[in-house]
Amino acid sequence: MNWSDVSVVLTTILYMISAVLFIRGIKLLGKADTARKGNLMSSVGMLIAVVTVLLEKKVTDTLTEGVMKNAYIWSLCAIALGSVIGAVWAKKVEMTGMPQLVALFNGFGGLSSLLVALTQFMTDKSINEFSSAALGLTIAIGAIAFTGSIVAWGKLSGKMFKKNINIPGKNVINAILAIGGLAGVVLYTLSIADVVSTDVGKIGIIIVTAAYLILGFTMVIAIGGGDMPVIISLLNAFSGLAAAFAGLSISNSVLVVSGCLVGTSGLILTLIMCKAMNRKLTALLFSSFGGPSKKGAAGEQKEPKSMSVEDAYLILEAASSVVFIPGYGMAVAQAQHAVKELCDKLEENGAEVNFAIHPVAGRMPGHMNVLLAEANVPYEQLKTADEMNPVMSNTDVAIVIGANDVVNPSAIEDETSPLYGMPIINAFEARTVFVLKRGKGTGFSGVENPLFTNDNTVMIYGDAKNTVSALVSEFDDG
Ligand code: NDP
Repeated sequence: MNWSDVSVVLTTILYMISAVLFIRGIKLLGKADTARKGNLMSSVGMLIAVVTVLLEKKVTDTLTEGVMKNAYIWSLCAIALGSVIGAVWAKKVEMTGMPQLVALFNGFGGLSSLLVALTQFMTDKSINEFSSAALGLTIAIGAIAFTGSIVAWGKLSGKMFKKNINIPGKNVINAILAIGGLAGVVLYTLSIADVVSTDVGKIGIIIVTAAYLILGFTMVIAIGGGDMPVIISLLNAFSGLAAAFAGLSISNSVLVVSGCLVGTSGLILTLIMCKAMNRKLTALLFSSFGGPSKKGAAGEQKEPKSMSVEDAYLILEAASSVVFIPGYGMAVAQAQHAVKELCDKLEENGAEVNFAIHPVAGRMPGHMNVLLAEANVPYEQLKTADEMNPVMSNTDVAIVIGANDVVNPSAIEDETSPLYGMPIINAFEARTVFVLKRGKGTGFSGVENPLFTNDNTVMIYGDAKNTVSALVSEFDDG
């Protein structure tokens, strides 16, 4: 056996090991108590995959080439640059900045697959029809994941595209881009099969790249009104599928396995999110969401009532059942530890305390669960909307902590609202509702919230952490 045979056997075995580690890792990620182990296992799988690529014959062959063609020099430069940027960024990013970072990661995942495919297109002269079709699809899905994620990043960070832009004739434009791009893939594949000329094939690649880069933009730009969670999971699925097709195109088994894992888990998450928000994926992609509620714009403008922390304490002290409803503002204020302290005080005072967690509260799936777990709130106390809504009318006090869209009754009452149809936590049914927020700002969807002017609602203005800590101090002093 010469070195080249050994290299093929070794890389196949190592790729299989890393694929098994990915599959096992993702299984362990499904449960809170095994998630860290799952994360570590998947990371080891990724390390093995990276090292194995560097052991591949076509890479080792470049060792004897000059500096410009030596794959090791370029790979190590890319790894060093990526690692430094990644490490500094991950250290710097605030917990509330994670969703937009994840959106960017999805985008860069799509971009890398796109670049892999374009490089193969420019360098691989012996590609077959199957690989060329996979290459074209990698470009299409990678491009849509890239520009779509950039728009999602802009919306989530509030830096760009905050307002939903309704492109006239959006569906027709998107259909032309999607079909035109696929026609580009067909042209390229036909050029590989020698049915059309190489130049026509090149034009096909230009068409699919341009069409799907634009499609990512036009598809995501119109989505807003609180529907972003679904599109983020869909883009995540796209970045995985792009990697899987890239794997097929360059015949790399571990890329196919890892891409399929990301793609399918992203698709499953997309369906879960659609169900949680009572949305149809097709309606979301082909209709325009967002814009103000017509009823809200025309209706009378009532002023919300506010209350001091001292008065709020007196009501809480007498409460026998309290439900916390956390939202994005709790993450911004990092109020979870103070909330746990208040929860303990209320329980010591004899109240029954629960947390009602909406599936899209915050800015990423499971956002509230992660924060509350970090503050050691027992998992059994975290209840779903289905569990809490039936008992909400028997609850003395609902404390809404930096949540807005997920408690907006327009989702039930106002058919013209962009939130209409989305299940909410029925905070408005509690005997008294405290809303802790800094001012009169709207939530992510930009929709006004009639809950704030209900007779049984009082606002406690201020940063959520300061307000909750002040309530804890009242219990200490009281
Ligand atoms: P919202 O974004 O609707 O509202 C958050 C509220 O928090 C704001 O109204 C803001 O009001 C308040 N707030 C901000 N900072 C503070 C602070 N320091 N102290 C107190 N309050 C604060 O949050 P929800 O969790 O209710 O809803 C999530 C929204 O995000 C939904 O529309 C959802 O669709 C969307 N989304 C969810 C994703 C997910 O996967 N979970 C992903 C992407 C989007 P004020 O400025 O007045 O303080």
